[in-house]
Amino acid sequence: MKVSKKTFLKATSVSIVSMIVSISICLLIVPMLGGTPDGPGFWMSLICPLVIAWPASAYQFTQTEKIQRARDELARAHAELDRLHQELTHAHDLLAHKARIDGMTGGLNRDTFLQMFEMACRKDGCAALLLCDADHFKKINDAHGHLAGDEALRGIAAAISRSLRPLDFWGRVGGEEFAIFLDSADEEEAFYIADQIRSAAQEIGLVYEGRSVKTTLSIGVTVFEGPGDALDHYRIADRRLYRAKSGGRNRVVMHDGDEAEAA
Ligand code: GH3
Ligand code: MG
Ligand code: MG
Repeated sequence: MKVSKKTFLKATSVSIVSMIVSISICLLIVPMLGGTPDGPGFWMSLICPLVIAWPASAYQFTQTEKIQRARDELARAHAELDRLHQELTHAHDLLAHKARIDGMTGGLNRDTFLQMFEMACRKDGCAALLLCDADHFKKINDAHGHLAGDEALRGIAAAISRSLRPLDFWGRVGGEEFAIFLDSADEEEAFYIADQIRSAAQEIGLVYEGRSVKTTLSIGVTVFEGPGDALDHYRIADRRLYRAKSGGRNRVVMHDGDEAEAA
C-alpha cells in the first residue's frame, strides 16, 4: 500500500492521540483496580495503539483519498461530457440551419420554401406568391464572370429581403430564381411590393472590377384566398413569370390576360 505524505501525517497523529489515550487509561484505571501501571502492562498500552492505530488509520485515509480522487475524476468527466454535449447541440443547430438556408443568398432553400409555402396555403385568408427570375443572367455571367453573377444574386436577395414584412418569407428556388410569399396581401399590396422589388433590383448599381453590372427582374404574381393548393398557385405564378419574360422582361405580371404591368 502506497501511503501519501498527508496520510502518513494523519495516521501518525491518530496513533499519537491513541497512545496518549491508552497511556492515560493505563495510568488512571490500573491504580484504581489496585495494580501498578508499569512493566509489560505499561509497554503494552504504549505499543498496542501504535501497532493497531497506525496501519488501520493509514489504510482508512488512503481509501478515503482514493475515493476523493475517483470523485474528482468523475466530476471532470461530467464537465467534459457537458462541454461535448453543448458542442454537439451547437453543431446540430448549425446543421439544421444549413439544411434550411441557401448558403449564398441567406434565403430559404428550395425545399424549405416549398414546405413553408405548402403549409401557408392551408390557412384561411388572402396571400400572394411572387416568382422572380433574373433577366438575361447568362449574359451577366458571360460578360462579367460567375463571381460577378454571384454578387448580383446576393444584391437581388438583399433587395428582396429589404422589401418584405415580418410575416413574409422568401427563398432561392433555382439558380437565379426567387420565390416570395406575402402574408395577408391583396392585389394592391402584392403589386406594390412586387414592383418595389423589381425597381430595387434595377437600382442595385453593382460595379464589378470597374464595370457596371445591370440587374433586372421579371416577376409573376398570383394573389389567392386560402386554403388552396400550393402547386396550383405555383403554376399560375410561373405562367405569369413567363408572360413577363415574353412581354419584354423587367416587369411584374399580375394576371393572365395582362400583357404586363410594365416597368
Ligand atoms: P432569362 O432572362 O430568360 O431568364 O435569361 P437567363 O439568361 O437569365 O436564363 P437562362 O435560364 O438561360 O440562364 C440562367 C443563368 O443563370 C445560367 C446560369 O449559369 C446562371 N446561374 C444560375 N445559378 C447561378 C449562380 O449561382 N451563380 C451564377 N453566377 N450564375 C448562376
Ligand atoms: Mg431561370
Ligand atoms: Mg433568368
